[in-house]
Amino acid sequence: MSFESHQSSSIEIISGQTRSSGDGWLRAMLNGVRCRCPRCGTGKLFSSYLKVADICPSCDLELHHQRADDAPPYFTMFIVGHLLIPMVFIVETNWRPDWWVHLTLWLPMATVLTLWLLPMVKGAIVGIQWALGMHGFGEESVAADQDMGDLTHKAMPPVRDRL
Ligand SMILES: [Zn+2]
Repeated sequence: MSFESHQSSSIEIISGQTRSSGDGWLRAMLNGVRCRCPRCGTGKLFSSYLKVADICPSCDLELHHQRADDAPPYFTMFIVGHLLIPMVFIVETNWRPDWWVHLTLWLPMATVLTLWLLPMVKGAIVGIQWALGMHGFGEESVAADQDMGDLTHKAMPPVRDRL
């Protein structure tokens, strides 16, 4: 590996934790979709159905920093709605079934789809939060940069000085 190709590597090591800055967010998000740790992709992300584990059992990444909050239900409802509502309209316009047929079809389908997607969407959001250094994940990087004497945070003046 030449020096230049090493320079163009998008891996940064922060406080013993490796975070990719290029397309690493996509890999972290896909690891989350598989309900795996965003960093190593092998440790289980959840300790129960929707409870994120405090620490990755495989690579010891501290996952308790995540702040997915109500974003997973929001995005899950968005996805499920956009999948089912067109199907409801198609069935209604083509066959005009009784109301109980709609209820029998769409209620279980919406419930199953929502419960299936919710952990995947939450995993994706936790993965993105880790990849972008958001919330507590970001505090680690700032503390590590200060420990390492990195001046990158001082290179940009505060917002009030730029206005
Ligand atoms: Zn891990």
